[in-house]
Amino acid sequence: MYRIGIGHDTHRLEPGNGLWLGGLKIPHTQSAVGHSDADVLLHAMIDAILGAAALGDIGELFPDDDPRNKDRSSSSMLAIARDQVRNAGWHIVNMDCVIFAQKPKILPHREGIRQHVSDLLGLDINQVWLKAKTGEAVGPIGEERAIAAECIVLLETQAAFTKN
Ligand code: MG
Repeated sequence: MYRIGIGHDTHRLEPGNGLWLGGLKIPHTQSAVGHSDADVLLHAMIDAILGAAALGDIGELFPDDDPRNKDRSSSSMLAIARDQVRNAGWHIVNMDCVIFAQKPKILPHREGIRQHVSDLLGLDINQVWLKAKTGEAVGPIGEERAIAAECIVLLETQAAFTKN
């Protein structure tokens, strides 16, 4: 049996010393603002895999009023979500993701991010794809006031689920 899931996330940008994206610190003149490390890509991935497995969402798993989640590494959050999905019997078939950012250029970091994410999730690098779109210089993305990401994932299980 298969299930798909989708995740979306947005964070505000402020002047800063780099962006956490896909578990890597990307050099940039801005940083994303958030309770954790504000990694939009990993947050979208977490919501996609949790949603596909019907296991809640990132806000339920890591409430932003819990001090343990302050400045938390999103890689550690994804590892916890991965374990929950695995424990429910699901395997990731593939994920495809989009980063929406006017700057910086994502392509030079794409392979590093794909390697980090596939290692973390126990996948082959070809099960994880990533692309980036600018905001065409308009709107909050294009005016460099925000960064966003979307991710879609396919999960597979050997179990046969029946409605009861
Ligand atoms: Mg977020």
